[in-house]
Amino acid sequence: MTIALHGKKVSRGIAIGRLHIIERNQPDIPEYIIEKSEVENEVQRFKQAVASAREQLSRIRNRVPSSAAADIASFIDTHLLMMDDVALTAEPIRLIRENYCNAEWALKIQRNALVDVFMQMNDPYLSTRRDDVDHVVNRIQRVLLKHTPLPHEDLDTRLSGTIILAEDLTPADTALMQQQGVTAFATEYGGPTSHTAILARSLGIPAIVGIHHATRYAREDDMAVLDGTSGVLLIAPDERTLEHYRHRQAEEERYYSSLSEIRESPCRTRDNITIELQANIELPSDFDTVREVGANGVGLYRTEFLYMNRETPPDEEEHYATYSKVMEILDGLPLTIRTLDLGADKQVDGGVQTGPVHTNPALGLRAVRLCLKEPALFRPQLRAILRASANGPVRLMVPMLSSLTETDQVLSIIKELKKDLREQGMAFDENLPVGGMIEVPAAAVCAEFFASRLDFLSIGTNDLIQYTMAIDRVNDEVSYLYDPLHPAVIRLIHCTLLAGRKHNIPVAMCGEMAGDPAYTRLLLGLGLREFSVHPAGLLEVKKIIMDSAINELTTMADEVMRLNSGRQIEDYLKTLN
Ligand code: PEP
Ligand code: MG
Repeated sequence: MTIALHGKKVSRGIAIGRLHIIERNQPDIPEYIIEKSEVENEVQRFKQAVASAREQLSRIRNRVPSSAAADIASFIDTHLLMMDDVALTAEPIRLIRENYCNAEWALKIQRNALVDVFMQMNDPYLSTRRDDVDHVVNRIQRVLLKHTPLPHEDLDTRLSGTIILAEDLTPADTALMQQQGVTAFATEYGGPTSHTAILARSLGIPAIVGIHHATRYAREDDMAVLDGTSGVLLIAPDERTLEHYRHRQAEEERYYSSLSEIRESPCRTRDNITIELQANIELPSDFDTVREVGANGVGLYRTEFLYMNRETPPDEEEHYATYSKVMEILDGLPLTIRTLDLGADKQVDGGVQTGPVHTNPALGLRAVRLCLKEPALFRPQLRAILRASANGPVRLMVPMLSSLTETDQVLSIIKELKKDLREQGMAFDENLPVGGMIEVPAAAVCAEFFASRLDFLSIGTNDLIQYTMAIDRVNDEVSYLYDPLHPAVIRLIHCTLLAGRKHNIPVAMCGEMAGDPAYTRLLLGLGLREFSVHPAGLLEVKKIIMDSAINELTTMADEVMRLNSGRQIEDYLKTLN
């Protein structure tokens, strides 16, 4: 029987393949046999992993502020105690020695045995203890997996062609999946502008989020169809359904490849107004796509990827080498490098401490706030961007500005670094444009002041909407409130565009709203002339721009400003589109 599950569509396209289920909160565990002579090394590897997991947890424990609720600390203490328990530390060693299996697999077997015991206890309190076992086991597994001796080709072939079904995925998991040939993914949690969803769009992987309890209805290796265009996951489809989707898949592919005809055309409206249409990039695999889709440059280079899936942060030379490589590929097209935006939904392992455990990370120490607090993190990146600016058109963009004080602090660090570079005889562009992202409502309302200090602005609607509507962008339970057409959002965008015009500086938009063809005409009518969008959606937006005439859209902005709800604006746009 076919089961149809509905969620939020976050990345279009149709994938057909076998399901690979990543169990609840559990990393994907490889299984392999080791040589007899390797057994003691494997035991050592396991012991070291337990020791580093314990150390990580102690560090977290030390960072819990004294003001935090007492149960947070005791929760971590319980986990620390469990790491000393023989059930978790000695038993996997016995399994490695007896079965010649890898440490990850031995730990997984022992975890399953412990969870079975807890589940058999008819006591609701004890059965929730399985969560504690999972927390502790997963922490050790993640350390082990980072140092897995399994050759990467094995991982690649295992996941190649599969559709991943998981409770949730981190951006780092998503980035790895593409390298492993995963064709699509669905998760039980997550919002449409979570970083994981953005990555899926930019990788061109069909994806759906927020399918609650999906893992209960599926089994490993089930045949499935994931329709990211309408947000449906079909498990065990019959032959007729499969045929229907194969047909739709081919049609969609034909439509998107037909768009490549306008790749080389200038991005101009019917009434001859040139629109800047740039690409958002992040992963190395995005670098080539900028040229492939005919973008005019890069309006947002998210540099967080440099920190993912590794243990230490990159130094100045690595930043510089990466930017130089991107510039070489862009071959003269402008590159807007956004400085680090770590924290909140962009958690990475790269050796960066984003502070103590907080209950509202999106409102905490993230992006420029973190960078200003940690100069050792910020300055190497700024120096590298300055040095890269000697080799071609680079712009530097600062995320999450909320006050002029922060802006001035950043400008003064840049000034200081320029002085150092001059003294060291290192080349850089004296006029490197420095811009800021308008993502916090306070900055949008006061955009005029930011426009007076900076060389350009770029509206980050993903965060701007999150903060305006007071919804966590990764929380699917409140994602129904995520509304780019809410009158408050439209007003903030309008206000920012007016500020740019008043101070004669460019204002771009690089949030996901810019890449959604449903909003292209509205944004043109409001006065937006620079779009930066994920490469996979660029040509669709370009087609709408080329089919639009601005002189037919100008009265529209006034009309939209009069409407008092997102629904009214949406209905009005339907007539316009
Ligand atoms: C945004 O917030 O709109 C944006 C482009 O930045 P990010 O999605 O990386 O937070
Ligand atoms: Mg943002």
